[in-house]
Amino acid sequence: GHNNLNAKLVLLGDMGAGKSSLVLRFVKGQFLEFQESTIGAAFFSQTLAVDDVTVKFEIWDTAGQERYHSLAPMYYRGAAAAIIVYDITSADSFTRAKKWVQELQKQGNANMVMALAGNKADLEEKRKVTAEEARAYADENGLFFMETSAKTAANVNDIFHEIAKRLPRA
Ligand code: GDP
Ligand code: MG
Repeated sequence: GHNNLNAKLVLLGDMGAGKSSLVLRFVKGQFLEFQESTIGAAFFSQTLAVDDVTVKFEIWDTAGQERYHSLAPMYYRGAAAAIIVYDITSADSFTRAKKWVQELQKQGNANMVMALAGNKADLEEKRKVTAEEARAYADENGLFFMETSAKTAANVNDIFHEIAKRLPRA
């Protein structure tokens, strides 16, 4: 039979890592070279069919700046899934991503599906974070890992699809 599943999903990560761009690519199939930075948070929804289940993602795209940090729990509390985004050309953004993972491990849902997205994978010539390092970190911390590009669309649908497959079925 056919089942519907609603899943609250939050994107966390450094400002500029490409959270909004990943959402825009997933929801609208678009990319903007000059994506405006997010104020507070923005909400989107998108459905995805996986096997015999239609997953309706309720997506919270957060701002990422330190001054909005205190708001983050509102968005990750009760979330079934999180995508922690860093920029492969920025070691600082990877450090920041690890801080978000720690916070979610302490304060988030115990059974939250967590994905680590190494975004801007199209900028190989500017890479600062290797895929090996990120994959090892993800494996140690119970996340799954993909490198993505909101610009070329590489792995963008795939990461949402993989999350949908891993969500606990009602
Ligand atoms: P956010 O602050 O995490 O929401 O990041 P944005 O989505 O606003 O993106 C910040 C900047 O990076 C924008 O200028 C985007 O066009 C650019 N950007 C986002 N994703 C990619 C990507 O995959 N590749 C490249 N080359 N640029 C990207
Ligand atoms: Mg944004």
